[in-house]
Amino acid sequence: MTLNNFIEDRWVASHGDTTFEKRNPADERDLIGIFRASSAGDVQEAVRAARRALPAWRALSYDARAQFLFRAAERIAARQTEIAAALTREEGKSLAEANGETARGAVILRYFAGDALRSVGEVLPSLNANTMLFTERLPLGVVGLITPWNFPFVIPVWKAAPALLYGNTVVLKPSEHSPVTAQMLAEIFHQAGLPAGVFNLVQGGRETGEALTRADGMNGISFTGSAAAGKVIARTCAERGVRYQLEMGGKNPVVVLEDANLDRAVELTIQGAMKLAGEKCTATARAIVVENIADEFVRRLVGRVKELEVGPGTDGRYYLGPLISAAAQANVLRHIERAQQEGARLLCGGAIDGRDDTARGHYVSPAVLDNVRPEMAIAQEEVFGPVLAVLRVPDFDAALRVANDIAYGLSASVFTRSLDKAFRFAREVEAGLVRINGDTATLEPQAPFGGLKGSSSFSRENGQAAKEFYTQLKTISVDRAD
Ligand code: NAD
Repeated sequence: MTLNNFIEDRWVASHGDTTFEKRNPADERDLIGIFRASSAGDVQEAVRAARRALPAWRALSYDARAQFLFRAAERIAARQTEIAAALTREEGKSLAEANGETARGAVILRYFAGDALRSVGEVLPSLNANTMLFTERLPLGVVGLITPWNFPFVIPVWKAAPALLYGNTVVLKPSEHSPVTAQMLAEIFHQAGLPAGVFNLVQGGRETGEALTRADGMNGISFTGSAAAGKVIARTCAERGVRYQLEMGGKNPVVVLEDANLDRAVELTIQGAMKLAGEKCTATARAIVVENIADEFVRRLVGRVKELEVGPGTDGRYYLGPLISAAAQANVLRHIERAQQEGARLLCGGAIDGRDDTARGHYVSPAVLDNVRPEMAIAQEEVFGPVLAVLRVPDFDAALRVANDIAYGLSASVFTRSLDKAFRFAREVEAGLVRINGDTATLEPQAPFGGLKGSSSFSRENGQAAKEFYTQLKTISVDRAD
């Protein structure tokens, strides 16, 4: 399979210097496709196409634009099985998770299409009785979407859907690890009849992403990915006067208090930490447990984690699949080793050996590290793998302090039956997404999504919050001519 760019309704070759080989993370022998990165020239061509398409697209009614989104949702539903299979082959997650992600793409498109007739401004009482004063949200213009590989289908959808509904035209630069599902999304928008140039795709890696942030004629960049890349993008956009939105990493805590339902806390901590092999920005990475129940919590947790089976996502028996790449696998194993050197105790998990069906993939079995202290790297750095650090604390106050003692602030959860503590946690924990008695990784497409501190650029995606990034506000007043 050769992967191409999609510019102005045509599939065209890219001209960058780097060539990527996309292989199945569950089995490296399975070559999925080869593609060339897009050069700065290719990117500029895509941005020019998006600019040309902008006047006619933004001139359509909201309702007219919404019809394209409804049709795209129908196309996703019709191709659900095919997309999910490609997603599992490309990214490694289980087929059930891939199906869930694909279906969610359709839900999000319908959600934003359904927003077409909602308010895009407000009327303000003027100080002058004869003046009509109101605000109106208008499209930002041409927006670049730079996305990661861990939700390779739904993240591009949750950016593209509001971008398109609010009248912007789009250039998507997906991750070099997930070119196939991005190509399918471009096909879907094409099949939905989107006018030429409204949605464009440029394949490539970091350099292509950098070219997009530097291209002439960009009005906004919406980025999801690592904090390191986010910082570079923020700097470039700030220098160039381009609006930007960054959704980045996390090191998300669950706090388990003495009055928690321990079985529930154990199950949902594992779900948050180990599903999708821990490769979620919202994955549970730290279990902060009060001392007097810590032994019992850890005993039950480790007993359950040891039962989790690891293997190819195509086999429904497995709880978690492979990591995205050999480099990601090596990185996770390095983190586990370093944690042990710093004094943590590995209770289970790590490298997998001696199995035929995992020997060619990038697998790590789910790991639990106990006796982790807040200053250790394993308590501070995002690992992006199936690794849970257990930190023991004397009481709730200490748990809150440890939960907040970190640069990130994406998601956090507390397990308790105390309404007082739940409320206090919700107010005081430094995270954009807070759950009481739930796992850190669940999100709903109609709810604003984003982090505090180093996890975000203070903006929000999804739900009604999405329109704030993809529109700009005008204040308009109307007076009588005479
Ligand atoms: P990454 O930062 O390496 O890459 C993300 C995207 O940015 C890719 O398309 C990549 O090619 C591009 N890119 C990299 N450097 C760039 C640069 N300097 N300029 C422009 N583009 C650049 O991240 P990844 O490995 O693909 O994804 C994993 C990371 O994403 C984790 O840190 C995870 O927490 C984060 N993530 C965050 C969210 C969220 O919504 N907060 C969701 C999913 C993943």
